[in-house]
Amino acid sequence: MNLNLKEKLTDACGKDLILCTDEELYTGLLCLTQSMAAGKESKEGKKKLYYISAEFLIGKLLSNNLINLGIYDDVKEILDSCGKSLSKIEEVEPEPSLGNGGLGRLAACFLDSIATLGLNGDGIGLNYHFGLFKQVFKDNLQQETPNPWMENPSWLQKTDVSYQIPFNGFTLTSRLYDIQVTGYQNRTNKLHLFDVESIDESLVGEDSITFDKQDIPRNLTLFLYPDDSDEAGRQLRIYQQYFMVSNAARLILDECTAKGCVLSDLPDYAVIQINDTHPTMIIPELIRLLMERGMDMDEAIDVVSRTCAYTNHTILAEALEKWPVSYLKKCVPQLVPIIEVLDDKVRRRFADESVAIIDRNDTVHMAHIDIHYGFAVNGVAALHTEILKNNELHNFYELYPEKFSNKTNGITFRRWLLHCNPRLSQMISSLIGEDYKKDAACLEKLWNSADDEKVLDQLMEIKEDNKKILADYLKDTQNLTIDPASVFDIQIKRLHEYKRQQLNALYLIHQYLNIKKGILPPAPITAIFGAKAAPAYVIAKDIIHLILCLQELTASDPEVSPWLRVVMVENYNVTLAEKLIPACDISEQISLASKEASGTGNMKFMLNGAVTLGTEDGANVEIHQLVGDENIYVFGASSDTVISRYADGSYQAKAYYEADPELKEAVDFITGEEMMKVGSKEHLERLSNELLNKDWFMTFPDFKEYVKVKNQAITDWMDRKNWAKKMLKNISQAGFFSSDRTIAEYNRDIWKLN
Ligand SMILES: *Cc1c(COP(=O)(O)O)cnc(C)c1O
Repeated sequence: MNLNLKEKLTDACGKDLILCTDEELYTGLLCLTQSMAAGKESKEGKKKLYYISAEFLIGKLLSNNLINLGIYDDVKEILDSCGKSLSKIEEVEPEPSLGNGGLGRLAACFLDSIATLGLNGDGIGLNYHFGLFKQVFKDNLQQETPNPWMENPSWLQKTDVSYQIPFNGFTLTSRLYDIQVTGYQNRTNKLHLFDVESIDESLVGEDSITFDKQDIPRNLTLFLYPDDSDEAGRQLRIYQQYFMVSNAARLILDECTAKGCVLSDLPDYAVIQINDTHPTMIIPELIRLLMERGMDMDEAIDVVSRTCAYTNHTILAEALEKWPVSYLKKCVPQLVPIIEVLDDKVRRRFADESVAIIDRNDTVHMAHIDIHYGFAVNGVAALHTEILKNNELHNFYELYPEKFSNKTNGITFRRWLLHCNPRLSQMISSLIGEDYKKDAACLEKLWNSADDEKVLDQLMEIKEDNKKILADYLKDTQNLTIDPASVFDIQIKRLHEYKRQQLNALYLIHQYLNIKKGILPPAPITAIFGAKAAPAYVIAKDIIHLILCLQELTASDPEVSPWLRVVMVENYNVTLAEKLIPACDISEQISLASKEASGTGNMKFMLNGAVTLGTEDGANVEIHQLVGDENIYVFGASSDTVISRYADGSYQAKAYYEADPELKEAVDFITGEEMMKVGSKEHLERLSNELLNKDWFMTFPDFKEYVKVKNQAITDWMDRKNWAKKMLKNISQAGFFSSDRTIAEYNRDIWKLN
């Protein structure tokens, strides 16, 4: 045992470990970890990356930090010897609520890889007190409550950095809090989170997420993505974004000047990665601050344009932010003249109205600022980047082909394998050694064991154990009952029509109806969902209602429940993902082709030995190429077909409904007798009408093939040996999706950190 470490931990706890509660041990471990991480901070490197993002979905930090510091096993042994359990202590830690979905989780994986590769790079974001809402289910409906995740003590470290941020008619004082980001066996970087000193948590009640949206000094950092269904909500988002980037810009300029940077040399000292459009205002704000410090405007524009790079995360029109000039004039008037000049310069160079920054309706297109005044634009998966170049951003691509590149997303293997699936990770180490922890491509060596029965058996055993662990966990924490002997079919991701949870639900209805007719599925199925819907997204909440009704129906029907269970976990987050993913057999990645930019959930599942059932969309395309036809289940219309269906407006949902009796039966069920017994007429009828009359994300055309391919996957799952081989193929090919690879590419092509 590492006695030195035991002594340090005892010191940090202030008493004998045996006498400590789990809370005291957590606090002690937190202090110990923070002091060890502080020893790995580095001031080296002239040039620094600033990764600015509205979201950082970092998950709990304790275990990951212990792993990255290389003391996980030692700490576990020390605790075991005192009769304490590290996993129980982990439960004490609240999960930071600073992100929403894939975009925020990507930012978190990137911070881990940046530090792991030893690169000089920090994250910058906001310190939301209640974060994204906490989801609770009541009467088969989603309700939103505040998520007060900040407890004392926490990973947040208050700094003495503070700025005065000017708005229209008032000024706010900021305060910087830092969270350490320790790389795997490498340096410690920072996640900088700015907060407003005048924040007032009492603006928010116990169980509701409503508050006075106009009281900016007191509400600014209460929530991530406050409801933007009204004008005050949209303006609050502008206030938040400006606050984030103005603080970021000041911090960056201060750090660079402290290193002796002359401001005209800024691009040699800083590179700013703009994660989606939320931080776009850093471009005009930096220009403004450089001018305040005496630079002339043309030079300021040039300097900033050589410092900023932009990542596009979506082609969904509603997600590419556009702000009315009138809102900007009201909230951040100091930026308006600068944005007008930026627009004017674009208009002088290019006659094409579609690439203008301020359009004819006096609306500012944030992405257009990024593309004209950033030096790099990247998509997040091969297909996505092609769609950007050929369709969505085609006119920009013609102007600046050299700016565009692809950086296929990745995930950190430290969290999504070593931490969440320790048994699998031990098995891998025993087969191919430890190198894969830092060099993920090594996983390919696993395929040498493809015909080793013992290895395949062990792989299945680990999966079975993980399924049991999940079943116990869901029983204890959410009172959900699932059978580990069934196929675990899992769809966990934000609720959005383009991700098509509704298609999965239609399959489950179809399966339910078949069972009632005596036609049984190839194996018992447990369909697991996890998803939050944006509070103002009505149809998304109706889909949750549908799924929760199916949960009640399948659980209460003794004819059905031995064969089909539908469950939806409450408040899906990173902590739940870490439990669900290692237990998954079939990974549902069924977005409408062309709509999912990349996906990263798909990568986590693959790495943990689940087989993908998906469309040719986002990074699924690359997964398919890597594992081959035999080891993935693909279905559905291609992205080309989908894009042309949108272009010619030819899609009619009703025609598919009329032509396919099984689809019709499933759709009719939504508003049928059984559902009305457990559900709400209003919600179910609205959803059914939406599908029949619009179905904007084209679920109906893919239904038939989805049913067929999914049934094939479940049949194949019964052939356990063969299935285990598919699992092994997926794991062995997952190395490409390490975020270490992604970050190395960003650095090679965009950041060029020394
Ligand atoms: C990975 C992850 C996501 C992203 O999932 P996708 O399937 O790629 O949309 C969202 N939420 C959490 C908690 C995650 O861990």
